[in-house]
Amino acid sequence: MRYIKSLYEADSRDPRKKGEHKGSSSHSDLYTDEDPKGTIHGLGFKDAETANKGIDIIKKVDRTHAHKVQATLVMQQRAKVAIERTKDPEKKKNLKAAYEIWTKFLEEMKKKTQELKESWTGQEVADHIKYITPDSSDIPDYFIDKYILPNDGWKNKPIKLKNLLKDKDFREYYKSGEERYDDYEVAADDLYQELVVYKGQLLDGYSRAARMLKQGEKTAAAFVIENKFIIEMSVFERYSKLDSISNKLLGDCFRQWVLDFERGKKSSSYSFNVENPGLTFDLDCSIYFKGKGFEVLNSTGADGRDEDDEGDWQDPFVNIDFACNPEWLPTYWSEIYFILADTLRHEIEHITQDGIDIGNYRKGKPNEPDDIMRMMINNGMLPKYHYLLLPKEVDANLQGLRFEAKKRKEKIIYTVNRYLDQKEEMGEVTQEEREIVLNKWRARAKHLGFKI
Ligand SMILES: [Zn+2]
Repeated sequence: MRYIKSLYEADSRDPRKKGEHKGSSSHSDLYTDEDPKGTIHGLGFKDAETANKGIDIIKKVDRTHAHKVQATLVMQQRAKVAIERTKDPEKKKNLKAAYEIWTKFLEEMKKKTQELKESWTGQEVADHIKYITPDSSDIPDYFIDKYILPNDGWKNKPIKLKNLLKDKDFREYYKSGEERYDDYEVAADDLYQELVVYKGQLLDGYSRAARMLKQGEKTAAAFVIENKFIIEMSVFERYSKLDSISNKLLGDCFRQWVLDFERGKKSSSYSFNVENPGLTFDLDCSIYFKGKGFEVLNSTGADGRDEDDEGDWQDPFVNIDFACNPEWLPTYWSEIYFILADTLRHEIEHITQDGIDIGNYRKGKPNEPDDIMRMMINNGMLPKYHYLLLPKEVDANLQGLRFEAKKRKEKIIYTVNRYLDQKEEMGEVTQEEREIVLNKWRARAKHLGFKI
């Protein structure tokens, strides 16, 4: 239930009003005397003498190394901006001298950073983020709890800004030209604060990164955690392997959905191409924030075939489409998470029931064509519960529900009963039919290596 908790926390935060400067209480601490905890007094960039004096202060002052680097960076960047704006040739010359001194010192500081730190712990990065965006951050607490704190091994390093455009959300934001802040609100110190990049996705710093790109900057400082998820190269023989890929996709998809909801989007889509020896398929998961309740839309399903109806080659695919009344959120997110877990694992199971040529098919899995049976069930020629008895569906249901139970940390029987309760309420099974289904499922589960 930790999603509920964290999402409530995220929800309870006041959204920043337009025009309000983020972290206004302490962002300005490098300029003014407002905040005694952060300010380093006496820094400047008017000329060489001022710069040297500032450097002496930084060397002696009792602040963390990260803070000193930050202060140096601010001076260097502000000098740069001032040079561009100054017309007077004498002043310009002095500013340039200061700029060069600050730049050289910055390089020294960076070298020292490298020596001091190979990597940062999650706690250190969290502290840094909280320091730069203390009050009304773009980052809800649950990001910090879920993505920052549990991960050690963050690198503080320059990244290529261009690469951030591979992140679909950021790309959209960048292209939209949306401005979260007016020019005067993004002062030099804001602009050059470290971005936070989690596995290729920009977590914090949309506005800064977009501005830097627009200004033609090539690189930016960032806290980065690399994408360490390397899918097992061995063939997926056991379902535990399919669980692990389901896990990765579940986490990434869910994160995307929540993010987009919090950004006020009307829908959210997550796509991924799984390409492994022994498992290839395209995944598209969407959620629409509309409707009266929660719904798994009919477009949800899998096509495990590696040929389409015309006999042309196709990549097998999984489609998942949910709809949820936005008023149900964030409360309902945790339930959606569990339903997504089930659905995802269910459809991935179908992927392994077909596609011999592409290498997806697993020996021993049901793969007799059942189209005619499905058609008869859909036409009402066979009772609805027969659907739950189709060999392919039995396996997919069992794997999906087993995976969901794992996520819920409950016995499978509870998950199975919850599912069958719903089917009963919807009039798709009677109480008697339900027993037939359960018996068949129990027998098959034993065969698959677990107990209901
Ligand atoms: Zn199915």
